[in-house]
Amino acid sequence: MPTLVMKFGGTSVANIDRIARAAKRVGLEVAKGYDVIVIVSAMSGKTNELVGWVDETSPLYDAREYDAVVSSGENVTAGLMALRLQEMDIPARSWQGWQVPLKTNSAHGAARIEEIPTENINRKFAEGMKVAVVAGFQGISPEGRITTLGRGGSDTTAVAFAAAFGAERCDIYTDVDGVYTTDPRICDKARKLDKIAFEEMLELASLGAKVLQTRSVELAMRYKVRLRVLSSFEEPSDTAGTLVCDEEDIMESNAVAGVAYSREEAKVTLLAVADRPGIAAAIFGPLAEAGVNVDMIVQNIAEDGRTDMTFSCPVNEWIRAEKAVKEAAASGAISFQDLVVDHDVAKVSVVGIGMRSHAGVAAQMFRALATEGINIKVITTSEIKISVLIDRKYMELAVQALHDAFDLDKAA
Ligand code: ADP
Ligand code: ASP
Ligand code: MG
Repeated sequence: MPTLVMKFGGTSVANIDRIARAAKRVGLEVAKGYDVIVIVSAMSGKTNELVGWVDETSPLYDAREYDAVVSSGENVTAGLMALRLQEMDIPARSWQGWQVPLKTNSAHGAARIEEIPTENINRKFAEGMKVAVVAGFQGISPEGRITTLGRGGSDTTAVAFAAAFGAERCDIYTDVDGVYTTDPRICDKARKLDKIAFEEMLELASLGAKVLQTRSVELAMRYKVRLRVLSSFEEPSDTAGTLVCDEEDIMESNAVAGVAYSREEAKVTLLAVADRPGIAAAIFGPLAEAGVNVDMIVQNIAEDGRTDMTFSCPVNEWIRAEKAVKEAAASGAISFQDLVVDHDVAKVSVVGIGMRSHAGVAAQMFRALATEGINIKVITTSEIKISVLIDRKYMELAVQALHDAFDLDKAA
C-alpha cells in the first residue's frame, strides 16, 4: 500500500470537534487506499502551559524532567485521534515515541532523531491497521529516557516518518493555508506562495518563521520528501497549500522571497573585554556549554588592548548567558568591565535565493528601515539572507516596510 504522512498542528487538534474534523480528512485518504501515518501535536496552548509549569517549579530545570513533562501533551491527542478514527470504523492505533521506537540522541529539549525502525508499525499495517497515530515531538534516548525535539518538533517527526516509511507525501496541516511571503498575522499584504525552494524555506524557518521547524526542512531536503503545507480548515483539494520543492522547479525569482522575524531576542554586550588571542573561544565556549544559543556576534575594534563584544541569544536564555560569562570571569578565564543586557530587541530578516544574482539588496533593506526611522543595532548577512537586530517595538513596522520595499505582494 502507498503510505501518506499527515501532520496536524496544535490548532488543528485544539478540541474534540477539531480532532473529529482532522480524523475526517484522514478518512478521505484511507478511502483512497493509503496506509496513513498521522502525526499529532498537543492541543494548542498545551505545550506552553506545560513549559510554564516547569519554569515555575524550577527555573534552571533538569532537561530530562522538562522532557518528561512537556512531551505529555502529544500523548493525549494521539490517543484521542485513534479513538475518533475507531469510532469511524477505521482500524487505528496510537503510538508514543518510545513505542515506535523513535530513537534520538540524549540532547534533552532539542534532541536529534537518529533512527526510526519501521518494523513495529509495518507489522500492524500488514495485520490490517489502516492508521498509525504517532505522538509528535517526542522520542527515546539511548539511556531509555523520553526526549523532545525542540519547539515545533512535530513537523520534524512528520518528515522523519515520511523519509523512514518512503511516504508518497508529507502533508503538514496547520492554521494557515500555506507558506506566505511573511507571517500573514502581522502583515495584511502577505501573499501565499504556491511553491517555495527548500533553501529559502530553510532560512525562513531558521530565522523565525515558525510555520515549519527548521530541522524538518533540512530532513525533507536531504531525503527528498515531498512536503506540502496546507490548512486543515479549508476544503480538500489536490492543489491546496504550498509545495516545498527544489529550486529548479520554481519559475519565480524575486531577489527576496520572504521576510522573517524573531521577536524574543536579547542583546548582551561585554564592555572593555581584555583583547587577546583566544578571547572569543574563552567567552563562547562556556556559553555553548551552558546551552545558550548564540546567534549574531559583533566584536568592536580594540583600543588599548580592550574591546566590546556583543552577541544575541533568545531572550529566555539571557539569565543562563549572564551566569556563564560571570562564572568565566570569576575563574579568571576572561575579564571585562561591565555586562549590559538589552531584553527588548527583535531580529528581522529578508531571504531569497535571488540575492545571489541581485546586487544592492542590503542597501535597499537599510534604506527602507531608515525611512521608517528604525535604528539598526546589529547586522549579519549570508549568501541568501540579511538579518538586522532592532528595537522590538518596531518589529511589525519593519516587517511591513520591508514587505512593501521588495514588492512581495506581487508575484515575480
Ligand atoms: P502548528 O501548531 O500547526 O504547528 P504553528 O503555529 O507552529 O502551527 O505555525 C503556523 C504559524 O506560523 C501561522 O499561524 C503563522 O502565524 C506563522 N508563520 C510565520 N511565518 C509564516 C509564513 N511565512 N507563512 C505562513 N505562516 C507563517
Ligand atoms: N507541541 C510542541 C510545541 O508546541 C510540538 C509541536 O507542536 O510541533 O512546540
Ligand atoms: Mg508548529
